[in-house]
Amino acid sequence: MPNDISPVTTSAAYPTALYVHVPFCLHHCGYCDFTLVANRDHLIPEYLRMLEKEFAHRQNGLPQPLNVDTIFIGGGTPTHLSPRDLQSLFDVIHRWFVLNDGGEFSIEANPDGLCDERLTVLRDNGINRLSLGVQSFDDTVLKTLERKHTAAEASQTIQRAATFIPNVSVDLIFGVPGQTLESWQQTLSDLLQLPVRHISTYGLTYEQGTPFFRRANAGSLKRLPDDLEAQMYRAGMATLETAGFEHYEVSNFALPGFQCRHNNVYWDADEYFAFGPGAARYIGGVRSTNCRSVVKWLNSWKVDQPCEEDREELSPEDKAREAIMLSMRRMQGLHIPSFEKRFQVSLHALAGDAIVEHLRDGLLEQSGDFLRLTDSGLLIADSVVCDFL
Ligand code: SF4
Repeated sequence: MPNDISPVTTSAAYPTALYVHVPFCLHHCGYCDFTLVANRDHLIPEYLRMLEKEFAHRQNGLPQPLNVDTIFIGGGTPTHLSPRDLQSLFDVIHRWFVLNDGGEFSIEANPDGLCDERLTVLRDNGINRLSLGVQSFDDTVLKTLERKHTAAEASQTIQRAATFIPNVSVDLIFGVPGQTLESWQQTLSDLLQLPVRHISTYGLTYEQGTPFFRRANAGSLKRLPDDLEAQMYRAGMATLETAGFEHYEVSNFALPGFQCRHNNVYWDADEYFAFGPGAARYIGGVRSTNCRSVVKWLNSWKVDQPCEEDREELSPEDKAREAIMLSMRRMQGLHIPSFEKRFQVSLHALAGDAIVEHLRDGLLEQSGDFLRLTDSGLLIADSVVCDFL
């Protein structure tokens, strides 16, 4: 692992997107493999001090503060921080970055603990998009997922939060053991009664190393059949599109004008800053990821050493392949002439074999200048897009 990473030195232009990772949660849900710690709140003050160090180190030599178009504070559960610690977090960010007029400033939150005092701190510090991890409006499903809120609490929180920050996004999970198609449809219809402008729907995954992975392998957690999960995904598309939400990415739906601009930076294969444990950045053609261990990240910065686990300088071909993979996740697909102009390469010379194979199998389709996933391709999007790497 490199320990002598120099500060960011980009040439003329800088990324205009910023990600900050806050790795604290009330409880570690059994399916989650994000970078986080639960029941370690005594580390929060140290985290804030080390975050300041990381900003100071990485931004050394760059204009201060630097203007960006989007900021995304993710986790973990950023709103697990107390109102006072949240204010300290914003103070750190605002010292180094300033949001351009009309910019998007998102934060992830959970319904539990999202009190008026916290919402006031968020609003007063410029947050204009709230991404809530609700997951379901079925209490049995919430219990299986080990979530700490009830459906009723989630509904009340969304309504209250929208009075502070009107642009609310909600995450839902389908394919949960024991969940029925009816329960999923009821969750969708309950959500559509609430003031939300953006919805993400994710199929439950069993990530290696998680309690859910072990329980599924041991047979104490029964995975839903693939065809039921596919039915749920299709039901989500049909219901949300009928309700006026545009399906703009494999897992994401938005009312007109409310796509997540920060995530669009990722899907456009554009560059972005990132700070905090486990945070991944893309700057100057280099992708690098901070240590996922929160304690390792803290200890490293305590002795003024950056803590990275992966670092890769992308070749022109790598960049082009990544761009295909990322843009294919969007419903509009890949605009072939723009791609070829940007990367100075012929799409078919680079990825002709994979394209021909997936067109033949009905997983991709070409419509005019766009190449995109078909309905069948969407169901196995991850494996299709990976073939372009
Ligand atoms: S609250 Fe969210 S980030 Fe925290 S453990 Fe649960 S799923 Fe993961």
